[in-house]
Amino acid sequence: MPQVKNWQLNREMEYAYQENRPQRQFAAVFNLNRCIGCQTCTMACKSTWTFSPGQEYMWWNNVESKPYGGFPFGWDVKLLEMLGEQPWNGSTYEGKTVFEAREPAKQTASGMIALGFLPGDEDWRHPNIYEDTSKGHNPKGESLPEHQNWGFYLPRICNHCTYPACLAACPRKAIYKRQEDGIVLIDQSRCRGYRKCMEACPYKKPMYRGTTATSEKCVGCYPRIEQGQATRCIATCIGKIRLFGFINDPASPVHYLVHKAKVALPLYPQFGTEPNIYYIPPRWVPRDYLAQMFGPGVEPAIASYTQADKELLGVLQLFGATDRIIHSYKIDGEEAVGMDEKGVEVVRTAINEKVQVRPADRHNIT
Ligand code: SF4
Ligand code: SF4
Repeated sequence: MPQVKNWQLNREMEYAYQENRPQRQFAAVFNLNRCIGCQTCTMACKSTWTFSPGQEYMWWNNVESKPYGGFPFGWDVKLLEMLGEQPWNGSTYEGKTVFEAREPAKQTASGMIALGFLPGDEDWRHPNIYEDTSKGHNPKGESLPEHQNWGFYLPRICNHCTYPACLAACPRKAIYKRQEDGIVLIDQSRCRGYRKCMEACPYKKPMYRGTTATSEKCVGCYPRIEQGQATRCIATCIGKIRLFGFINDPASPVHYLVHKAKVALPLYPQFGTEPNIYYIPPRWVPRDYLAQMFGPGVEPAIASYTQADKELLGVLQLFGATDRIIHSYKIDGEEAVGMDEKGVEVVRTAINEKVQVRPADRHNIT
């Protein structure tokens, strides 16, 4: 297999095809410190893309309660167990990715290009199982800043990976990655519903539709992206936890959050697909759990987030401030400003929101 560079692993790795990065790469940052689990994103996606017969169990956007929840059930725990030890040496991953850990015999026998599994039907039936179930008693007895009882909401969409396992696994070559924005799509006219993409995707984001006998997945709201608008799940987010951008544009606020402030991290980078949804980790959760989920950058990311400088505070205020795509930004005095592709201002917001003190005669005390 060709060797490709995966910056999230700080090394080269095996992949089915040569490295071929798109001109622009669809990406987003989700701030897990802010998600309230309201599922507005989930319903915005469902009412846009998956409301038809045969799509009843499809949730291209889902929000699961960690550590116990998952859609499909146990998607990450099962694969982590299959993958075995996942050691890091500093910022370099020394374990195996899903491409490197595949079983060679299976590769020829069934076209298996990545380590994976097909979830059972029952695993898709409870998209929000264990909602709000927290992890009680931290056995290590940590105290603040980590909480004794903890949990958090993990919103997930397709990661529009740089090295998609779904694309690599498709025997029909029905899956392709767009050069103009890096969005990964399934050509419905070529798909025959073999579900190799479902088996190989470590995030379990392709889903099978019985009425058409094809697989479908998040389309990155590409008609909106082409019009300069963020995706539905991002534009509707009540908690303003999401920010869209093109990761390989150095002027993008998303590029700043991932590569400069280093406050946002990929989900399970050890899987090796170079996912392009990045997460600001929740600061109250035990660090060993977060380190397995987001890699070795957790401690510096939380430190950067909790001691945010003016630029970071400004960029954090741009989350959910407009449904337009912010291509570049600047800090203008006490305000953060977002610009579109042509450099035209599309949003301006105060970095520190004004504090309103209720006058004594308005206190609700009788
Ligand atoms: S998250 Fe899964 S479905 Fe989406 S591009 Fe990556 S491998 Fe493919
Ligand atoms: S809409 Fe935003 S805050 Fe609500 S569940 Fe989705 S990501 Fe979380």
